Amino acid sequence: MSDDLLKKIIAHSKEYGFIFPSSEIYDGLGAVYDYGQNGAELKNNIKEYWWRSMVQLHSNIVGIDAAIFMHPKVWEASGHVSAFNDPLIDNKDSKKRYRADVLIEEFRAKLEEKIQKEVEKGKKKFGDAFNEVQFLETNPNVIRTKTKIDELNKRFINALNNNDLEELRQIIIDNEIACPESGSKNWTEVRQFNLMFSTKLGSLSEVANTIYLRPETAQGIFVNFLNVMKSGRMKIPFGIAQIGKAFRNEIVARQFIFRMREFEQMEMQFFVRPGDEMKWFNYWKEFRIKWHKNLGFGDEKYRFHEHDKLAHYANAAFDIEFDFPMGFKEVEGIHSRTDFDLSQHQEFSGKKMQYFDPDLNESYVPYVVETSIGLDRTFLTILCAAYKEEIVESTGEERVVLAIPPALAPVKIAVLPLVKKDGLPEIADKIFDKLKLHFNVIYEEKDSIGKRYRRQDAIGTPYCITIDHQTKEDNTVTLRHRDTMEQERISIDELIKVADEKVSMAKLLEGLL
Ligand code: ATP
Repeated sequence: MSDDLLKKIIAHSKEYGFIFPSSEIYDGLGAVYDYGQNGAELKNNIKEYWWRSMVQLHSNIVGIDAAIFMHPKVWEASGHVSAFNDPLIDNKDSKKRYRADVLIEEFRAKLEEKIQKEVEKGKKKFGDAFNEVQFLETNPNVIRTKTKIDELNKRFINALNNNDLEELRQIIIDNEIACPESGSKNWTEVRQFNLMFSTKLGSLSEVANTIYLRPETAQGIFVNFLNVMKSGRMKIPFGIAQIGKAFRNEIVARQFIFRMREFEQMEMQFFVRPGDEMKWFNYWKEFRIKWHKNLGFGDEKYRFHEHDKLAHYANAAFDIEFDFPMGFKEVEGIHSRTDFDLSQHQEFSGKKMQYFDPDLNESYVPYVVETSIGLDRTFLTILCAAYKEEIVESTGEERVVLAIPPALAPVKIAVLPLVKKDGLPEIADKIFDKLKLHFNVIYEEKDSIGKRYRRQDAIGTPYCITIDHQTKEDNTVTLRHRDTMEQERISIDELIKVADEKVSMAKLLEGLL
């Protein structure tokens, strides 16, 4: 995959109503995007897949919807006011600003690629006799690069753990990391930059209070821990799930909807008995990667990545990474957060954030394992994996198809009368009215049937129903499959049953059991 693919996806998203730059008529707003008619549908379906897999399939998880604005003390207790920072560095020549840690990570990824290239070369040279393990252990170029990566990792992790900004800069200088735009190695110092957006609450005449747009949804769950536990009579272990907007003043906002300043998170905090957290951490790690792989795009597109630096409150953290056009990158984090958040809120609010465990006959502050996934990033994984350019064998023309899992597709069925006469539109209308009660369907009669199929392929509609002259004789229509382009004739009376079988969310969820 290449950056070229990302460009195509961006153009396709705009042309077919998935994603538009925000306020585009005013030349857009950096790293802010709007979802169009098809994008909003796909996004809703992803939310539904997540919500039902977490809340509906787990009887001990409930969902909430907390406000974006919260009491300012929340962000003091959570540590965001003092420590939600990114280390940034400027290039003096290009005037471009970067995250120092990202520059180093990208450099490390290039070194890893170099090893991969050596392996490819070796494979070509030695053919069947190639032994990859032996090659990795003995090839001098590989050994040299590996040593470089190990040394880099050691310094990098140390610098992150000690919050040593000077050392981060020195790593960039020592490894001769250049500005990706200009190639210049003329860097400023590294500085910390807080990512929270702030605003004022109340009218000017009142005492103005600085409040923040939440940078994560998790705190809305922690502050409601007691409310949900009591009103829902929850017993540990239990989880609280939430989908909602989060805001971060990202320094480097590139790569389309991968890094946005306003985005949506789907988070779940799972409250457990202290000491049980690793068991649940492993459970959620496995369940969450299964959720991604269940989309059917290929298991090799996902991998785990263990955090280089653990937050001071965490005792384990893994990311699930997806093979984006720009390389493997994080789409979800699974974190074991100990009792940090609830203890902090207990201290700052003076309220007891505890659970009485009847089995142990004691009260404690529960430990938390969280799963935190970006909705927009998941959306991007689906676009990247689903986008395909193909040559249609029968006609030789090119088609672009979005092979989105049917349960997530924005439109499930397109109802298409073959021609605009002979009573076919009237029959199609009736079918449309029947189907619309069950699925998101679209009716189209303009243009040739071939063109209409292409348009549906481009937005990922899994099924097209065509009403032709035979329909009038035997009450059947053709059902065209998006991926294979095969057509079968089925009776109108069977449509809802057949379609439901193919596009239902239940079918997708079954893969998780
Ligand atoms: P990164 O290292 O990429 O900045 P993060 O580790 O800060 O991400 P978390 O705080 O763990 O991210 O947030 C959980 C999830 O929220 C991420 O896995 C990602 O999918 C999503 N997310 C975080 N920041 C953004 C953003 N600026 N735009 C879109 N999605 C985001």
